Amino acid sequence: MGSVMPSTATDLRQANLTRALRAIHTAEADLTRAQLARELTCTRATAAALAADLQDLGLITVSETELTRRRGRPSTRLTPAATGPAVIAVEIGVTCVRLATVGLGGRLSAVESTALQNHDVDHVLGLARDMLRERLRSTPQPCVGVGIAVHGLVDQLSMTLVSAPNLGWDDTDVVAQLDLPPGLPVRMDNVAHLSALAESSRGRGRGFATVLYLHAAVGLGGALVLDGHPVRGRRGFAGEFGHLPLGRSEQPCRCGGWGCWELDVDQPALARAAGRPYTARTVATVARKVLADSTRGDQEARSAVDQVSALLGRGIGALINVHDPDLVVLACHAADLLASSPQIVVEQARRGSMSAHRPALPPIEPAALDADGALVGAADSLFDFLVESPTALTGRTAASAAPLDRLPS
Ligand SMILES: [Zn+2]
Repeated sequence: MGSVMPSTATDLRQANLTRALRAIHTAEADLTRAQLARELTCTRATAAALAADLQDLGLITVSETELTRRRGRPSTRLTPAATGPAVIAVEIGVTCVRLATVGLGGRLSAVESTALQNHDVDHVLGLARDMLRERLRSTPQPCVGVGIAVHGLVDQLSMTLVSAPNLGWDDTDVVAQLDLPPGLPVRMDNVAHLSALAESSRGRGRGFATVLYLHAAVGLGGALVLDGHPVRGRRGFAGEFGHLPLGRSEQPCRCGGWGCWELDVDQPALARAAGRPYTARTVATVARKVLADSTRGDQEARSAVDQVSALLGRGIGALINVHDPDLVVLACHAADLLASSPQIVVEQARRGSMSAHRPALPPIEPAALDADGALVGAADSLFDFLVESPTALTGRTAASAAPLDRLPS
């Protein structure tokens, strides 16, 4: 039997294990063996054999639950193994460097954050390098890759940071400066793309086919996510929605253009609208204070929040016309504006959209993951292709109890 079609049998076993591991990795909560069988449209016996193989590989643990005991039929819970492979995710932000260990199932542990003293490239990347080196040394799980989230445009072909306006960096080889162990898989992408990926697969966008994700802080970016994949464009620069010329003024923008939408809706825009002084360091705090003052009845703050929320809503309406999403998810400062002025955001999105959209405008909702989204997304961007090869992920071979049925795809 083994000599008849060895490659086909191996490929089939591999494909079945991949589908089972992907289902467990992306599930909202631990699956039971019966749920895995339903998800893969296979028999319970096949699901049991696949789960046993994944347990042999050290990727999951199989344990009895009490869920159905009272009906006399104990079921089994399939949990990503705590000692299984992990990705180290790092976010190189504008105010700090954040780091976490992320296991299968998108489980974050040991989240660590160090504030930046300045934006000097050697200071910031030296700090990230030291944090990564220490984590790679101390993490008990086998590390299968490093996922990097950066606030800037990442060329996906050369894997370099082309421009990070809020850090003042151009053409920076971030990966080389992090001096990672040779051979360790590394992915780097824009924070907005990675947050959108996490939000669509594990957050508010779970189950929606077309998700428009918008993240505002200093500037506004995002991604259109189609069936779980952020649209990155030719080099990875897509999703710079904040640089659509929807702004009301002819102010020059950090991007080199003028009249960009983000100049009217981001945190500095809110501070300016409220007449509050700010610096690069204080702008997030100042913007949050304006929002808090507006809910306490400060009229000047209220009118600034309403004005900025209206301009946010108007741009969302334009983007609904372009992308026809199932759901719009707002993160960070954009979610704060939605929480503060929900009617204004939705009403202006309605006014800004074509009449065909108005009877059934897509829901506009706050992100569920928010601050952790970029780290989860950075890890998932690696797991996404690592789960394609469950055996390579562990460097072990399964005893292979799984029958060689071709599962329906
Ligand atoms: Zn711009």
